[in-house]
Amino acid sequence: MKAMPVSSLRIVVLACLLVVTLGFGAYRWLSQSPRPNIILVTFDTTRADHIGAYGYEHGLTTAFDQFAGEGVLFEKAYAPCPITLPSHATMLTGLYPPEHDLRVNGSGSLSSDIPFLPEILNENGYETGAFIAAPPVLGAQFGLDRGFDTYDDERARSTARTRPFGGERRDGEEVVDLALKWLQERDSQPFFCWIHLYDAHGPYDPYLDVFGERFEENPYDAGVAWEIRQFERVLAYLKDRELDSETLVVVAGDHGEGLNDHGEHEHGMLVYNSTLHVPVVFRGPQFCQPGTRVESAVSLVDLFPTLLEILKIPAPEHVSGRSLVPALQGQAIESRDCYAEAELPYFLNRWCPLQSVISDDWKYIESTRPELYDLKQDPDELKNLINTSGDEMQRLQSLLVDLQESFRRTLSDQVSLTDQDVANLKSLGYAAGGTSSNEDGAIAGEELIDVKDMISHVAKYEEAKHLVSANRLDEAIAMLQKVADATDEFPMSDLRLADLLAETGRPQEALAIYRSVISRRPDFTAAWFSLGRLLASLGEFEQLEEHFRGFVEAHPADPAGHFELARVLVRLKKPSDAIREFEETLRLAPEMVDAYVSLGQLLVALKQPAEAVAYLERALDNNPKHVAANENLMMVFAQTGQLDRAIQIGKQVVTMRPDSFETRFNLGLILIQDRQFAEGIAQLGEAQRIRPDDPRPTQHIKQARAASLNSDR
Ligand SMILES: [Zn+2]
Repeated sequence: MKAMPVSSLRIVVLACLLVVTLGFGAYRWLSQSPRPNIILVTFDTTRADHIGAYGYEHGLTTAFDQFAGEGVLFEKAYAPCPITLPSHATMLTGLYPPEHDLRVNGSGSLSSDIPFLPEILNENGYETGAFIAAPPVLGAQFGLDRGFDTYDDERARSTARTRPFGGERRDGEEVVDLALKWLQERDSQPFFCWIHLYDAHGPYDPYLDVFGERFEENPYDAGVAWEIRQFERVLAYLKDRELDSETLVVVAGDHGEGLNDHGEHEHGMLVYNSTLHVPVVFRGPQFCQPGTRVESAVSLVDLFPTLLEILKIPAPEHVSGRSLVPALQGQAIESRDCYAEAELPYFLNRWCPLQSVISDDWKYIESTRPELYDLKQDPDELKNLINTSGDEMQRLQSLLVDLQESFRRTLSDQVSLTDQDVANLKSLGYAAGGTSSNEDGAIAGEELIDVKDMISHVAKYEEAKHLVSANRLDEAIAMLQKVADATDEFPMSDLRLADLLAETGRPQEALAIYRSVISRRPDFTAAWFSLGRLLASLGEFEQLEEHFRGFVEAHPADPAGHFELARVLVRLKKPSDAIREFEETLRLAPEMVDAYVSLGQLLVALKQPAEAVAYLERALDNNPKHVAANENLMMVFAQTGQLDRAIQIGKQVVTMRPDSFETRFNLGLILIQDRQFAEGIAQLGEAQRIRPDDPRPTQHIKQARAASLNSDR
């Protein structure tokens, strides 16, 4: 037997000491296999204080309350921001939004340089699956799909509308059905399953068919009850399969909901605790001391290091979160300083962005008119003590400055910035290379509008959203018109007004508003694209070319502008200009699959099949399941006589999109060209079934039958 080296001996002694000091529960934990299954359920838009386990009396949350009693509940858990994408990115990276650089919904993509929980788990032998209820907000394009074997961000099975504000979503029942199906298919490997539930998010539904009239007055609570009912199905599944003892279940809200606190209906614009205080519970018999309630303040940024420690996976060099494992084991932990921000006011409207820090029962909010609250005495944040508590104000202010400084260091370490990133950062007031939003030229020169002064307009804007989802478009237009009459400082509201006017057949009014928004806010790219869409729908392609030429001049680093310009140039039959713009698009955004496809299509039309194939294949390198790329490739191969390859691709496309008339029809013709008459006729028959009124399949079936008879002779 080899003698044990001194260093190993020391580790054994140390481990024994740990066992003694941490007690029996900890011993069990340390000795157990550190590879539990993990289910992360995120409750979108769910306020902690609307859940029974957090003291609410009017909800229907029994299943969750019971679950919380079996696990460890964090009484004061805070989101890093009141919106979905950045908050989820924080949970999965252990970084605050200024560090992972996703600051608002719908913009940017998580840098592949940033260590990401699903990828780390996947590399450590986990099968990984995500089931997303709100594809427009958490779709794969924002980069949270990295490391997932399955990332189900498909659109809802039921046909959802895509109106302005429409926001496609999937019912929690559908999301949980898909997640359970995936879980059933897993073998003995550990799995990581993220289930995102969106049912509490507005517009609210009282679920009359489920809960009767119980929630008619408070339909928000019906959404919470419904999501918890779906969550209950996940728990029942684990129990049925006897997976409870080897599965760690983590539930976290991504942010809360205003519900008229501080004049805010929904979330995103303010950083009061109605939208930052979220439920967080861990349950896993091996890892958590059942029935523990943790009073200390924690942040969603802590989830990532906690899970890594449980799994004994070393954390990356820098995380802003800290491990909550001691708390899960029932030990007391200190409250941490919790940072949160709202960039949306600045991003959309150039109002002052908000940054806040919570420290030892105090909360400071930096804005044009800053705020300070004593959360112990004043948990509803109603009494601003900024002028009376100077010491606390100074302490929290300097804490915030330190945090911002550390965020900047992390960002420059973590993220390799493209031209576009730099442009985005500048537009957000964070110039790369280290000036704070306060020092940046975009902000320093003027006093920005305080969101507090705009919140009544925001309330009307949100009201209009609800009117749209109830299909009361004229009332929504009237509501947004009121906002427009009252202020010139709410471009996002003006943009939505124009979108609705365009949709309801009033294009001239819409054009005027879009143009006015762009002249006031030339950096507001969404307005340019909306105006572009309207011009395209009106067939005004010459104006459209001029419009996007103006855009790329103003925003040369924005690939989307070059892409749109290229498409209109195709339309105007200026192919060499179009090719130049497509190439510029791809130089700026080498992963933009649609640009490869469009350029490939153009080259097909220009009879340059070899070049077309090269671009279409690059599209497939980035996304093998891209239907249009596959379809075009099929057609190029067919046109150049490579029928085998065309047929092979065509058959793949048919499995991806079995109800596409074009695919079936084209594949049928190619098969017949290859003298595979029976299969070709079968595909044409399917095309006929899909579109019975179209005479072409019938004609070709007739011709194919005749040709088939001839060839038999
Ligand atoms: Zn959300």
